[in-house]
Amino acid sequence: MQIPYQNKEIETMQRPALEELQLKRLREIVNFSIRTPFYKKRFAKVGINSGDDIKSLKDLKKIPFTTKDDLRQNFPRGLLAVDMDDVIRIHTSSGTTGIPTVIYYSRQDLDNWTDLLARSIIATGATKSDIFQNMMTYGLFTGGLGLHYGAEKVGMTVIPASGGNTKRQLLLMRDFGTTVVHVTPSYLLHIHSVLPESNLTVSDLSLRKAYIGAEPHSENVRLKLEDLWKIDAYNSYGLSEMNGPGVAFECIYKTGLHIWEDGYFVEIIDPETGEEVPQGQQGEVVFTNLIRAATPLLRYRTRDLAFLIPGTCECGRTHRRLSRIMGRTDDMMIINGVNVFPSQIEEVIMKIHEVGTNYLIQVEKDGAIDKLIVKVEIYSKMFLGDARQLDGLKGRIKDDLRASIVINPIVELHEPGFLPISEGKAKRVLDLRPKF
Ligand code: AMP
Ligand code: ZN
Repeated sequence: MQIPYQNKEIETMQRPALEELQLKRLREIVNFSIRTPFYKKRFAKVGINSGDDIKSLKDLKKIPFTTKDDLRQNFPRGLLAVDMDDVIRIHTSSGTTGIPTVIYYSRQDLDNWTDLLARSIIATGATKSDIFQNMMTYGLFTGGLGLHYGAEKVGMTVIPASGGNTKRQLLLMRDFGTTVVHVTPSYLLHIHSVLPESNLTVSDLSLRKAYIGAEPHSENVRLKLEDLWKIDAYNSYGLSEMNGPGVAFECIYKTGLHIWEDGYFVEIIDPETGEEVPQGQQGEVVFTNLIRAATPLLRYRTRDLAFLIPGTCECGRTHRRLSRIMGRTDDMMIINGVNVFPSQIEEVIMKIHEVGTNYLIQVEKDGAIDKLIVKVEIYSKMFLGDARQLDGLKGRIKDDLRASIVINPIVELHEPGFLPISEGKAKRVLDLRPKF
């Protein structure tokens, strides 16, 4: 079988040469990092004055991890390593309110990122003849613009549909003969359920491939999507801190996600000790971005749990494969592709003075869609009054939550004592979605 490569030399590079390239790029990135007050201070503590002090890839381990909190604390420009005039784009991480995490990109940074997305697309066997409908949200979220430019680079016909408006998505697919989509797996399941209402069947459409990502999903979801839509579905992984999508992508063999190691240096660590775990063992994924100068991030703790798949892939690529994401080390929930922290919900409801002290966040699956139910205890006197007053309160909580977390929750009001009280740490989140 003819294996499609975008850059065969780099994709199949022997490991010693690949590591040499990583080292060269790491030195360059260290030189950029040192321009930021944040890394300058960190490097001083471990005796790194320039990229030349990095003699081998092992020296990277001298540098402490960078966390999401570091990014927040250095908002907005503490990690900016180039002149603002050289920044041509900004993205932020989804689902965070208050202080977001911001990533700056120079023209070269965007070119580097776009290149890896083009590489990812080609690795799935797609070509310039494909019609690509991007159903990820366009905006500060990297899923929209990221894949958009990668697909244009390949020469595909790009339909920048963005998210939502399912019936319109289907019409676009029908009218333009969409062959490839980029979408969250939960949304692609949902779209299938809307086919009958649109008087369409899969055979009226030309879909052949889907890039599914931005949220955890199981192998069974992939298989279900492939069966329902009669397509090939490829797992696509990335995070805004590492540019966005295109950090790791599946090739035509769909046996794990090739990490583009010339762009991202990967470590899998024990989240408790910070020590690297043996190959094949699950741990927290840590990345060093080797190709972005404007916001260098070294040893960034993703909080995603996964493992490196031992052995080689039939496609001949030497870049190692990441397993699907098995979970997260923190309490971030991903609801229909949007990141939500329980603390954001607490912050909103606890501001409303009719609300009592106990609440529970419940997440369920309703068909293919995640449903967020926020159960709130309110003071008993509220139940003595007019029912309209209760409806008004419910509406207010709902609106405030929607404004903060960008998700429309179901709000339930309860009398005090209704919700369970735990003896130790309060368990605020009940995630009833099936585990995989
Ligand atoms: P963001 O920075 O908003 O793009 O969110 C990135 C996070 O989304 C990652 O750290 C993962 O937790 C999650 N994510 C992205 N892609 C995938 C994927 N293919 N499978 C599972 N989780 C994913
Ligand atoms: Zn492969």
